[in-house]
Amino acid sequence: MAGVIRRLDETVVNRIAAGEVIQRPANAVKELIENCLDAKSTNIQVTVKDGGMKLLQIQDNGTGIRREDMEIVCERFTTSKLQTFEDLSGIATYGFRGEALASVSHVAHVTITTKTADAKCAYRANYSDGKLKGPPKPCAGNQGTQILVEDLFYNVSTRRKALKSPSDEYSRIVEVVSRYAIHNSGKSFSVKKQGETVADVRTLANASVVDNIRGVFGNAVSRELIEVGCEDQKLAYKMKGYISNANYSVKKCILILFINHRLVESSALKKAIETVYAAYLPKNTHPFLYLSLEIAPQNVDVNVHPTKHEVHFLHEDSVIESVQKHVESKLLGSNSSRTYFTQTLLPGLSVSGGSEVKSSSAAAESSERVYAHQMVRTDCRAQKLDAFLKPKEKSPPDPEAAGPSSREAETKTVEMDETDDVDMLEALAEQEAEVPEGDEDSSVQRKRPRKEQQEEEDLTAPATPKRRVIKLNSIKELRAEITDNTHKGLQEMLQNHSFVGCINPQWTLIQHHTKLYLLNITKLSQELFYQILIYDFGNFGVLRLSTPAPLYDLAMLALDSEESGWTEDDGPKEGLAQYIVDFLKKKSEMLEDYFSVEIDQEGNLTGLPLLLDKYSPVMEGLPMFILRLATEVNWDNEKECFRDFSKECSMFYSIRKRYILEAEPGEEQDAEGNSWRWKVEHVIFKAFRTLFSPPKSFSEDGTVLQIANLPDLYKVFERC
Ligand code: ADP
Ligand code: MG
Repeated sequence: MAGVIRRLDETVVNRIAAGEVIQRPANAVKELIENCLDAKSTNIQVTVKDGGMKLLQIQDNGTGIRREDMEIVCERFTTSKLQTFEDLSGIATYGFRGEALASVSHVAHVTITTKTADAKCAYRANYSDGKLKGPPKPCAGNQGTQILVEDLFYNVSTRRKALKSPSDEYSRIVEVVSRYAIHNSGKSFSVKKQGETVADVRTLANASVVDNIRGVFGNAVSRELIEVGCEDQKLAYKMKGYISNANYSVKKCILILFINHRLVESSALKKAIETVYAAYLPKNTHPFLYLSLEIAPQNVDVNVHPTKHEVHFLHEDSVIESVQKHVESKLLGSNSSRTYFTQTLLPGLSVSGGSEVKSSSAAAESSERVYAHQMVRTDCRAQKLDAFLKPKEKSPPDPEAAGPSSREAETKTVEMDETDDVDMLEALAEQEAEVPEGDEDSSVQRKRPRKEQQEEEDLTAPATPKRRVIKLNSIKELRAEITDNTHKGLQEMLQNHSFVGCINPQWTLIQHHTKLYLLNITKLSQELFYQILIYDFGNFGVLRLSTPAPLYDLAMLALDSEESGWTEDDGPKEGLAQYIVDFLKKKSEMLEDYFSVEIDQEGNLTGLPLLLDKYSPVMEGLPMFILRLATEVNWDNEKECFRDFSKECSMFYSIRKRYILEAEPGEEQDAEGNSWRWKVEHVIFKAFRTLFSPPKSFSEDGTVLQIANLPDLYKVFERC
């Protein structure tokens, strides 16, 4: 008997079609977020239960939906964004098909609660199979829209079965939200599981793109980013974004690509970029990139199926090649649009840093051009001052060689002698001096895996966030103070300088363009550590002391030193020292949680924050640090407390001549122990290039001094 061919029921057809449009919860989230952005929202909150299968809720503060439109929003092909076919070519909003909400309503229970600015109250309505189930009911609510999607695919078992585990689906949702959050800096996003109070990703309205990348992917990436941007009139495209430099690599390429503000994929572009990086990165490792392309709307087919993320556009090959070239030039650092200064940096440097000009245009080129006779060595591999200072015994360590192997022989495990304070200090100093990278038996150990490793593992999984997001206003304010006070000119100089050499622990010479500068490293490094403490607040690794250091002994040592200014009027030292121990013990929970300063039950210091890889402070400064924590920090006011603590801690971590010479006596004479030199050049200056915002005052208070300008020197020689 032949089967009877029947026309499928319309609702079944719709359901199948909807299942094609929305294949998994993350697709729905993407469509719904784009609707929020279309509605000019600045705050978008996503709540998820069971990986979105049980519940998906997207709340925004956008324009809302008018009461009279609620009737039809879930019907297919209803949209407020497009009237004629011609509109398609100039489309500026994400949605235009009027298909997303309709699709979702065919495969889930949808509830919309929404209020427009001029409506007296909000309205709530339920939908299924594209239809309103009853008249919208008035209710309380703020301006904006909340879309609630429940029991996704309750009526399409094949789709339901094709889904992965709830945690897997949740990761995909988090990935979508974080990518849109990175792209839409200036708007705040959050995504969390229902019932949780803490969001897994949260971005703030005042955060920059880099802040958001840091929040999602961590510091290891965010501090190695290069800003990119180019434009081509002929190809009718613009591109901007951030790409990782050659210092950073990850197991799997991360390309966050937006074209006309839609998250898309382009394997052709990815491939082109990977070939560029192949020349710079270790084998089998890959870059991180966030690129936002804007292409003339008529050249892109935005009308792609929602599940087809792979895009194609007109002149694709030429655009890709152009992007590729730009990325390469940025990586090489040999971009034609370099920043030069119109004025000599110092003196007369404008504090606003506004005196810099971009010289990418031809006109600027002629006046700003650096002629051959003005050119100075800028290859960092070329000889440095060190090479002239110590010609025979030891060549200056290069970053690769100075790893664990070259130092292993000197590593000592430290035994503490309780009775001898001086021994203890020496022991501590030795600990700090030798920190072999990745050596399990090292006397100073890291509690967490190395940041980069952690990063790599996490990045291969769909962007599961690992950084604790700090929501304290005090910290946000302290961060803003740093950013607002940045001297852009100094920042550019520190990013693009050539390292010349250390004169002593306090002073270092660098060269920038044709000028030579003297930098106060004590002040600069102190500010650097302060900024790290504020930015990485609550997210530090731990430098673990192999032998706990009794706070009491440290406090006594400090009180014994002249620097403490102790007088008999202050009362007996023993009493003060005990007070300090008791006081800090009370603060230990907070100190550990926020700053990774670990204090055990017995009042011993067991861990200090790991602020920079391959860097530990000189332990000679530890006693004063402990004393000052108890005496110089305002513990009663949250913001003051965090600021004061960070100031004290950064002073301890900074490069201080006195402590270094105590720790490495004779260093100046025999040029033997070069560990502080190595740290200054390879750790501190590396950080200056990438994660530092020098304050404006540094251009005026002698922290940065210009000591020579090449053209002026030529003039001097000409007269001789
Ligand atoms: P499209 O976005 O393609 O227009 P959708 O099905 O995604 O189609 O949405 C249908 C319509 O519902 C939109 O055109 C818009 O008018 C309205 N809408 C959907 N979500 C929101 C929202 N979050 N805020 C305001 N209006 C919305
Ligand atoms: Mg839409």
